[in-house]
Amino acid sequence: MKTIGITTTVPIEVLLAAGYQPVDLNNLFIGSIERERMVSIAERAGFPQNCCTWIKGIYGVCLEHDVKNVLCVTTGDCSNTTMLMEVLRLKGVDVLPFAYPEQPDAVLMQKALQNLAQTLGTTIAKAEKVRKELERARQLAWKLDELTWRDGLVSGLESHYWLVSTSDFNGDYMEYERRLGGLLAEAKGRKPYHDDFLRLAYIGVPPVFAGGLYPYIEQNGARVVFNEIQLQFAMPHPGSSLAEQYSNYTYPYSIRGRAKDIVTELHRRRIDGVIHYVQAFCHRGIGDIIFRHAIHLPVLTLEGNTDFTLNAHVKTRIEAFLDMLRRRATTTSGTSGG
Ligand code: SF4
Repeated sequence: MKTIGITTTVPIEVLLAAGYQPVDLNNLFIGSIERERMVSIAERAGFPQNCCTWIKGIYGVCLEHDVKNVLCVTTGDCSNTTMLMEVLRLKGVDVLPFAYPEQPDAVLMQKALQNLAQTLGTTIAKAEKVRKELERARQLAWKLDELTWRDGLVSGLESHYWLVSTSDFNGDYMEYERRLGGLLAEAKGRKPYHDDFLRLAYIGVPPVFAGGLYPYIEQNGARVVFNEIQLQFAMPHPGSSLAEQYSNYTYPYSIRGRAKDIVTELHRRRIDGVIHYVQAFCHRGIGDIIFRHAIHLPVLTLEGNTDFTLNAHVKTRIEAFLDMLRRRATTTSGTSGG
């Protein structure tokens, strides 16, 4: 199979049906031990300091790994991708644009999928067959989510990693199934997290410092039981067709749709507080205003840039937030009890 880089979650069923192996360039970048060098490759090429680290990282890994084909999402993801696409084209990369419809509408989505299938020389019927093949891997990812929030058997970091990996199933969905199946079997024998742990939601794009963030939260007596966008990558509302699946996927559309989904999950998962992660220089950061309006729980907004580990300032803010949530929980239970 020919490799094709992807800049965010896309209908990979169509790519697989066309004989391409999708590789999520974000995961390739953030999983690299040379992340800083990937960013510096982009900066040396002229990407400005005030450009998002994910965009620079994607550019760096494309050049470093000699990625020849990239599917760039031009509507429904990132305002920077259009220019990234132009620069990659200039460097000889074969880029293919893909636009999510403006609204989550299955008819419009079907047209977008058909255009993509036609461009890649495949059909929707073949892509629907791939959707069936991926069902088992997606079901395991939903099970992982359930074991995280309902049964307290899976950590926030494990949830993050396995859900975020559904964008490309780490390049091999059968291996993903095998490894995740093994983890779930092992998790069922674990001792559950204690009820005293505060329950947090993580909303926003995946953090650049995931490896530090989730364990630090747990060291301080709380845990993430809802990874919003990561769960969306796993298509938790698949419907009965690709067009429905990618219309029910909230990330590419209006932030109001995301807020509605988030509020429902906050109730269902009995969340105490929310961490909203924003990436420095990202337009999505402005959405903080909308989330704070929609969410009637304490929200901590954390910004990440090029620090791949948690710095002292972020750690202090997390600790202060958790202290406040604990005081709030005590006051609330005191009030209702008395
Ligand atoms: S974090 Fe924001 S600016 Fe960066 S790639 Fe994602 S959407 Fe674009």
